[in-house]
Amino acid sequence: MTLTPPELRTSTLPSVADDPRWARIVARDKTADGHLWYSVATTGVYCRASCPSRLANPKNVQLHDSLASAKATGFRPCRRCNPNGLSIEAENAALAARACRIIEESEEEPSLEELAKAVGRSPSYFHRTFKAATGVTPKEYAAANRAAKVRHGLASGSSVTEAIYDAGFNSSGRFYEKSTDMLGMTPSRYRAGGANEEIKFAVGQTSSLGAILVASTKKGVAAILLGDDPEDLVRNLQDRFPNARLIGADRDYEALVAQVVGFVEAPRLGLNLPLDVRGTAFQERVWKVLQEVPVGATVSYAEVARRIGTPKSVRAVAAACAANKLAVAIPCHRVIRNDGSLSGYAWGVDRKRILLDREASQNS
Ligand SMILES: [Zn+2]
Repeated sequence: MTLTPPELRTSTLPSVADDPRWARIVARDKTADGHLWYSVATTGVYCRASCPSRLANPKNVQLHDSLASAKATGFRPCRRCNPNGLSIEAENAALAARACRIIEESEEEPSLEELAKAVGRSPSYFHRTFKAATGVTPKEYAAANRAAKVRHGLASGSSVTEAIYDAGFNSSGRFYEKSTDMLGMTPSRYRAGGANEEIKFAVGQTSSLGAILVASTKKGVAAILLGDDPEDLVRNLQDRFPNARLIGADRDYEALVAQVVGFVEAPRLGLNLPLDVRGTAFQERVWKVLQEVPVGATVSYAEVARRIGTPKSVRAVAAACAANKLAVAIPCHRVIRNDGSLSGYAWGVDRKRILLDREASQNS
């Protein structure tokens, strides 16, 4: 058996430093993972091509085109790059995918800590890798997932309230995160909503006025909104109470909604529920006057202005009517122009006409 002198060995074998595969290792080329490994004689470890560790001296490196060849060195696998397993990216993608399934299948939105624990990583590592793999944070993913469930529920014919229950909002409490754009909310126009105040709401259907949303604070009914599209009504509620936590209401609340719907259909019955009226001092004066206009009667904007003692404030009266968020309970539909024409209505002039016609016919 003859030994080749070392000086001869380096001159006859191609140097690793000149090997094009070494350039990929220098570049930490992730696309080489799965095709290329290297072992380092001085440390006794082998690595995947993209190992983030400090680069070894190529004089001590041997290149391998198969994992079996790298293992055959008898060295141990590098702990940093885990050359025997999936690539770090593939592993993180698998981990993110697992977290996505957990979010989708959870009744309530899991916390960051719960998710991180479930996939066996630290919260900060998990958050970073989830975002890298999916492009969004776990919280954003959960919000988008809930919005998709609500949309799906609506598309399949459930009421908004049902869709929101089904999407898990009821138990998790917060319907809209202020910072998310789940259902394409418009920027807040109102600043009246108290921070962290809880507002219960539910959406129902009327016989001829379309959809109706009823919302309550602890003090009483704070909004009765009418419209064609239940989703628009929920958005509108959030616009009017931008800082509140909207809670899809429970069965008990549905009974209250039924009571409000009954009242809207037949205002003469009266609404035996406390109202939580919120406006500027001026708006509240206008609304109080409106509440004194009996069923079946109408009043002009100028007359309302006169009754509150500021006859010149006709435009401001019209604006206060438009800002009303308690349809029918504050009967802004009973305010018409001097010439008897209907003018506008916050919930559409067609609804105003239906309400007035109905009240007139019930009067006779
Ligand atoms: Zn390594």
